[in-house]
Amino acid sequence: MVETRKPIQVAEAVRLVMEHCHPLGTETIPLEQAYGRVLAEPIIAKHDVPSFDRSPYDGFAVRSEDTSGASGDNRISFKVIGEIGAGHVADRGIGPGEAYRIMTGAQIPDNADAIVMLEQTVEEENGFTIRKPFSPGENFSYKGEDAKKGEVLIEAGTLVHPGTIALLATFGYAEVEVARRPIAGILSTGTELLDVADELVPGKIRNSNGPMIAAQLTRMGIPYKSYGMQADQLDACTAIVEKAIAETDFLITTGGVSVGDYDYLPAIYERLGAKVLFNKVAMRPGSVTTVAVLGEKLLFGLSGNPSACFTGFELFTRPAVLNIMGGTAPYMPHMKATLGDDFTKPNPFTRFIRAVWEMTADGIVASPAGFNKSNAVSSIARGNCLLVLPSGTRGYTKGMEVDILLIGAEQGVREWVL
Ligand code: AMP
Ligand code: MG
Repeated sequence: MVETRKPIQVAEAVRLVMEHCHPLGTETIPLEQAYGRVLAEPIIAKHDVPSFDRSPYDGFAVRSEDTSGASGDNRISFKVIGEIGAGHVADRGIGPGEAYRIMTGAQIPDNADAIVMLEQTVEEENGFTIRKPFSPGENFSYKGEDAKKGEVLIEAGTLVHPGTIALLATFGYAEVEVARRPIAGILSTGTELLDVADELVPGKIRNSNGPMIAAQLTRMGIPYKSYGMQADQLDACTAIVEKAIAETDFLITTGGVSVGDYDYLPAIYERLGAKVLFNKVAMRPGSVTTVAVLGEKLLFGLSGNPSACFTGFELFTRPAVLNIMGGTAPYMPHMKATLGDDFTKPNPFTRFIRAVWEMTADGIVASPAGFNKSNAVSSIARGNCLLVLPSGTRGYTKGMEVDILLIGAEQGVREWVL
């Protein structure tokens, strides 16, 4: 008798996976290696930024009071008493009618409270003239205007991107404390699988899931060990799964989680004593997606169908990995879009359709990316988002408002919203 499985909702499945994530502690690494990692410490301003009043332009540092009354008919002249390039400081403050020639980024001399841009002057021997008054603080970059010493600028749990690197460098973080990154294991199961370089022979297909998952991990900066392909043989498959679990922090298998004669993953979980969190999710593609835990390790049993495999990774594996790394915004960003095509198939389960979103004169429009069955591979290549169509008996028609989840976004969001 075929086993009947009880489907759980996607949000519930996501919640279960997230509940079973275990952080791996922290480590201190050089700043150059911090891109893509998750901060284990907040970034606190170690000093004011800027740390001194500085000129935002190339020009002249003046006392604003000396500029009052300047006009086209009444040009006021200033005597230049020296030059301050970026990285240099003035010998003294300025007095009435005096100015320093000053370059962008240079420290503003004492008594000056405005910068006259070069373009706002007519130069003359020993100085320049201006034709408009300047107010105190005009063209002036104040000490601490960007960040104040002691301020918490970025919270722990934030993903490090190039802007974060700039901030860390500003405060002299030559090393950064980040969460440890898990090492993933990838195993593609299926007697039908050929290697990418193999010639096609009758009944066989090339393994596309293994390389795809590797790339999905690489996009997240997650290292992995590949355990290649394994034919559907219970003993051999159990042995390699066991070895992979021992050598990695979590395992992604593809294929073999359904109820077919050669779907051995359920039996393998049982043999190893892994606890199955769910083995049926109310979604298409990928309703057979299974997640189990063994000790503190998550075992992602993704469907062999390429679209289902891809979607299972993005919905469950990706946020779990970010959670293991202490990331506080692990979910794909979400937007509303207008459906660009009819999708009339009734939905017993929520559909996650590989789709393309684009900005048009009518706003954001998302359309399915072509052939969209769970075994499709072409639409994964074309898609740039997942279109979410909640379950219901009706189909969906062009022009309806729909939800989309953005794939490949550098920064995620804190809440699972759908
Ligand atoms: P399964 O999940 O093992 O029932 O496989 C479902 C479908 O996905 C079958 O048509 C398999 O041939 C196909 N499939 C399984 N593994 C892979 C893989 N690594 N790459 C591409 N297709 C696969
Ligand atoms: Mg199979």
